[in-house]
Amino acid sequence: MHVFELARTLIDIESITDNEEGVGNYLYRYLDELAARFDGHAELIEVEPRRFNVFAQWGSPLVVTLSTHLDTVPPFFASREDEQHIWGRGACDTKGIIASMIKAVEAMLAAGERGFGLLFVVGEERTSAGAYRAAKSPRGSKYIINGEPTGNRLALGSKGSLRYEVVATGKMAHSAYPELGDSAIHKLIDVLADMRRIPLPVDALLGPSTLNIGTLSGGRAPNVVADEARADIMIRLVGDPSETKRALAAAAAGRAELREVIEIPALHLNSVDGIETTVVAFTTDIPAFGGQWGEPFLIGPGSIHVAHTLEERVPKQQLLEAVQIYQQMVQQLCKRESK
Ligand SMILES: [Zn+2]
Repeated sequence: MHVFELARTLIDIESITDNEEGVGNYLYRYLDELAARFDGHAELIEVEPRRFNVFAQWGSPLVVTLSTHLDTVPPFFASREDEQHIWGRGACDTKGIIASMIKAVEAMLAAGERGFGLLFVVGEERTSAGAYRAAKSPRGSKYIINGEPTGNRLALGSKGSLRYEVVATGKMAHSAYPELGDSAIHKLIDVLADMRRIPLPVDALLGPSTLNIGTLSGGRAPNVVADEARADIMIRLVGDPSETKRALAAAAAGRAELREVIEIPALHLNSVDGIETTVVAFTTDIPAFGGQWGEPFLIGPGSIHVAHTLEERVPKQQLLEAVQIYQQMVQQLCKRESK
């Protein structure tokens, strides 16, 4: 099957997060057949009932794993193609990537090369459940090439994020007698003003860390001293967040409660000779793998700007190029490992 045909076949098997079973079974049958022909091994790894990662390996030890996710965001829409693009849900995020990775593996197998694997995981678009599960059963892989749409450029890094709920509580009173109450809103705005003055780090590659106060609510009426107020803040991380966390905690201390909602670390990734580079803002499964599948790289065909839209598509030319780039990277990393 040609890479375009394989990409369209995968797009047409709907796999919105939680419903990856159909596409997983299709890929398992495909890779099991490829494993049988080239002395490899394919398996399904259960994440939850009816949700499986798909893994296949050719040769031992496993040096490089090509990996991406099986799930897409909603809504589903079927594939179509014109001269330049393949369209459809998952075209660039990530059915086209899966097709390019498989075609790269087929070409290397036909050339007698070994020492690589494919790992397709569920749940990236929601909780990274598949990647967390995979991190618990590593196979000794030294490098993992994670596929997300980067326009076929190797991502050297991505910003992380840190989200907090800031909650202040006080005591209601008639606003004519504020000394009888304790305004949660006044405390919260003081805390937020102090937070905005915290100097945030700047990274040479990723740029500045930034803070956004995204929501603000509280109070009951103009003539009531507010007993409750809250805000949601989000910080884009560019490096080690411990200093920022300490400063935020100090700003809140004694005046508001700081509840951490989620933290995704900033990523710094390495390059490979001869492959163009970029910096991306989106997050991936890479932190969830926790280094258990080897040193991570991030590259894939297509543009993140059309992922998650109704215009989702991937340039056919980039699918073809990705088949070559994935081979080139696997070969270089295998060489690096044998030195
Ligand atoms: Zn993705």
